[in-house]
Amino acid sequence: MSGSTPTVRNGSCLCGSIKVRMEGEPFRTNLCHCSSCQKFSGGIFASLAVYKTDQVTYTPSSPSVMKTFTDTTPESGRVLLRYFCGTCGSPVKGARTGRDADFVVVPLGIIDGDTAGAGLKPQVEFFCRSRADWIGDVVGGAEGFETLPPPAA
Ligand SMILES: [Zn+2]
Ligand SMILES: [Zn+2]
Repeated sequence: MSGSTPTVRNGSCLCGSIKVRMEGEPFRTNLCHCSSCQKFSGGIFASLAVYKTDQVTYTPSSPSVMKTFTDTTPESGRVLLRYFCGTCGSPVKGARTGRDADFVVVPLGIIDGDTAGAGLKPQVEFFCRSRADWIGDVVGGAEGFETLPPPAA
């Protein structure tokens, strides 16, 4: 990154009421196969990029369009704030409280363009115990965990 301007990615929900702008590269990219992410995303796994809060800017057309579901039953065992568009229902953001409040999780599918996940290959896969048996491996490999990685000491 020798003096180059940081990568900027733009995204939106399906109806366009919520815009998002991500500056720089994410802290982590991952897939999550847990049952909460399956239900919330409507897909069989979530593909996510984790950014520092100050890298990401959300611009809703009105404050009320950004809805929050407080997920108290994620398989991680910790409360997760799941944000979605009140008009079209697209998931747009995940966040935690407490010590991880500095991070925001962006679903890759809301990034604009036909190749939303380009350049954002998952590094890790969480909750592989719930992974559909017909999914192939991530091209180039990703580190997989049955649930979550053990907490750092
Ligand atoms: Zn929308
Ligand atoms: Zn999950």
